[in-house]
This record gives sequence, structure tokens and C-alpha cells, in this order.
Amino acid sequence: MTNTKDKEAKGGEEDESEPRWRIGDRVYALWAGNNCYYVSTIAEVSEADRTVVVTWDDADTSHRRVSFDQVMRPSDETTAWSRARIEKRATVRHTKQKGRCLFTNEACEPGQVVFVERPLLVALPAVAPKLWECLQKLHEEPGDIDVIRDKYVPEPDEEPNEDVIRILKALQDAELDGESNKICKLEAKSFQRLVSAWRYNSFGHHKEDGLVLYNRISMCAHSCDPTCCWSYGDEDAFVLRSRMALEKGGELTISYLQDEDLLKSTSVRQQKLQNWKFTCMCPRCSLKVDVGRGIRCQRCKVGVLYPQVPTGGFETCKVCGSSPSSEDTQMLLNMEEEYVARVDSLDKKDLDDVQTVYQAALDIFERHWILYVMDTILWEGQRQKNIMEAMEHQRRRIDFHQHYYFRPTFILAWCHEELGDCMVQQFPSRKWHLMQEFQRAYRMLAILCGTTHQYTASPYNKLWQVSSTNNSANANGANTETSESRKPVAQVSISM
Ligand SMILES: [Zn+2]
Ligand SMILES: [Zn+2]
Repeated sequence: MTNTKDKEAKGGEEDESEPRWRIGDRVYALWAGNNCYYVSTIAEVSEADRTVVVTWDDADTSHRRVSFDQVMRPSDETTAWSRARIEKRATVRHTKQKGRCLFTNEACEPGQVVFVERPLLVALPAVAPKLWECLQKLHEEPGDIDVIRDKYVPEPDEEPNEDVIRILKALQDAELDGESNKICKLEAKSFQRLVSAWRYNSFGHHKEDGLVLYNRISMCAHSCDPTCCWSYGDEDAFVLRSRMALEKGGELTISYLQDEDLLKSTSVRQQKLQNWKFTCMCPRCSLKVDVGRGIRCQRCKVGVLYPQVPTGGFETCKVCGSSPSSEDTQMLLNMEEEYVARVDSLDKKDLDDVQTVYQAALDIFERHWILYVMDTILWEGQRQKNIMEAMEHQRRRIDFHQHYYFRPTFILAWCHEELGDCMVQQFPSRKWHLMQEFQRAYRMLAILCGTTHQYTASPYNKLWQVSSTNNSANANGANTETSESRKPVAQVSISM
């Protein structure tokens, strides 16, 4: 466990005001040709019109004058902000339905960094032997323990469970020195409270099998349509970005579920969220019809019926106008349940079996999340063997994602990039198509992790490559290139 409090104290009073640029500063600046940030050096500063002239690292000579607000320190998007700066950006407020939640103090553009927060504590397995020592130290500092005690737990007055009692007992039996002995004095109930605070508020460490706890981030409520997304910055910093346009005062929410679970039905999501012991009331969970559970109309075999959540019945078929009888409804729901269990137990390596289940399911379902799950298995399994077949599954994954949850996610962005990769191999002359796939991937990743992130640079550079190749299929020979407005994104990190 690493206590990051010392760093907080040192870095706490960093400059809050706008940085003052000086000639020779190494910066990221926005190149107006494509609105991407590139590494450059400041050559001139004009305070009067609040612009700088930069020298691009790739020696490009266009768009060299950049306004102050389009220049950033290389670390601005990845290094943790001071607590004061975060508090200026986001406020914790009490809400009637969900308790304390986090709100933005400023309107945000899609993809804008809301704030970057350093972890409060990091618990990694390597430091496990020292865990108790650290816990004990932690308890010596009233400030820290209060911050953890302050976190959300479903039952603040929870009785200590067996594990907690056992751990405390073991600690009492162990031969601890005088200092470490203090932890044993901790009451079982307070210990339970701390354990629960970790359980309900920490994030899995992104590189190791450990846990990370953040202060402000832990105030972010869950939504199955979260307003924010996040990536990791330097030293486990949590980079929070707005996923959509946010008004001033808008709520900052994240998803406690993984992207792939956001594509599962409302009831499955609700079930998974029971891990945090609350019932999600987000806009998607409040919809009256779940369009992620489409069933083919049994009458006309063309229309798609979706279940109505409150009644449990199905909507009327929009193609033939019939609605299933209550008997048929029950039969369809039972069948759905069987398939969900069947898909859940599929062996991903047994592609023939997956193929058989998929084939049979297509007769019954359409626009159903279990088809998406099988499309994913089949895309991954067929990719090296039968690329044309794999591409079709990838297209279906994209279709379903857009139909059910059309927001930028890493899944959707990478689906487009991977499809673009396949297209380059199979249909290199379909330039418009290739460009479209890479462009979608690039635009989405720019929102999810910023234009300077290596994830974003990858489809961007592919896009640039495709756009700068000569298109022999261009019949009239006219130059439709717009390559002067594109250049690759540097993947090298900035050197100071
Ligand atoms: Zn929800
Ligand atoms: Zn029908």
C-alpha cells in the first residue's frame, strides 16, 4: 500500500493560473489542419493577442500560430491535478435519490478532460506483507482514515462479518511489536466499515492484481449511460473525461460495469450491479422497452418484437401487426432464458458448437445481446481462419452496439479499427470505406482518451496512410486528396 499523501502535500499548491508560455517551452499545440495536438517548441509569444508561434517537431510550416487556449503542457492530460484545482472543476452535492454525487462546475465538450486525480491509496500484492504495517500507519493519521470512512457503504452500521472478526483475531494472536499492535485495538465494527469502503469504492489496478482508491472519483455515481469515461495517466492517475457534451452543473457519472456488460440487457445489468447493492435508475434502466432483447415475430418471421419491461409482454409487431398470445409470450420468454444459460456456458474454443447455437438462435432472435456475445466469440475465433466470415460478425457487432448503446466505447472504436484493418487486406481499393472505418475509430478514441494517446494515434496514422496512397480506382484521375490537411500523430512521448 502506497500512501500518496506526501505527494499531495508537495504538489498541492501547484500553479492554478494559466501557464505563462516562454520561448523554448516544449508543448503540445493544436494543429489547425486536423485539430490534433502535436509536439512542438514555442518560438514566439505574443501576450497582446494571446497567441504563440510554434515550431512543429516534424518541421511542418503550416498553422504555426496557435492561441493560448490551444497550447498545453505535455503533462496536462496525464498528471494529477491538485486537490484545489479539482474542487474548482467539480462539486459534491447531496441528491435525494442517490446520496452524494459529483457535478461539473463548467460546461464540457465531448472528450474534454474534467480532471485528473491521483490515487488516495494503492494496494498491490507485492506490498501485502507490509499491508498491516501500512494499515496501522494509516490509522495513526486521523485525516486519512476519516477520508476512507467517509466513502459510500450500503450499510454504515453493518455488523462485522466473520472474515473481519477472523482477521482481527489473527492479528491479536500474532506476535506484533508495540507499534503494529495498535491496529488490534481497532474495533471490529470500524474495521468492517473500512473493509466495506474498499469493497464498494476501489478500482482494480490497471497493471497488477491490486486495488486503487480515489477520493473525488469515488463520489461518481454509476450510470449505464455514463456521462464520463476514463483512462489512466501517470502514476495511476485517473483521467476523467466527458463522454458527451455536458452543461454546467451536469452530473458526472461513470460505469461501474465493463463496456461489454453495458451491451447486456437491463435485467442482466441490474443483476451485476447488485454487487454494489443498489438498483440502477439510470435513463437506460428506466426505459419501458428493452431493445437489447429482440425476438423475431413468430407470425410473419420478419418483424422484431421487444419485451415491455413493466408488463413482461411483447410489443405489437410493426410489420404484421400481430402480438403474441400470453401463451406464446411465456414460451418465448422461457426460450430466451434457456438460450441465455446456453450462451453463458459456451466453450469459446469450440467454434463449431458456437456456430450451431448461433445458427439456431438466429431463427428466434434478432438484435439480441446474446447474438452480440456469439458474434464476438465468432469474430475472434474466425479472424485468423476465415477473414470474410469474421468481418461479417464484426459488422453485426457494430450494428448491435449502435442500435442498443450508441455512445463512444473502446469496444466500438476498436471494432471499427479492426474492421478497417481487415478491409485493407481484403479490399484495399475501397478507399472511402477504409477511411470511414479508421475515422470513426479515431474520432471515438479522441473522446475516450484524447488525441495525444497512443490508442488514438493508431487509427489516425492508418487513416493518414490510406488517404495518402494513390487511388487507382479513381476513374477521372482528379485529385480528391485532402492529405495536406492530415499528418500522422507522433507516437513518441515528449522530451523535456
Ligand atoms: Zn442503469
Ligand atoms: Zn410480425
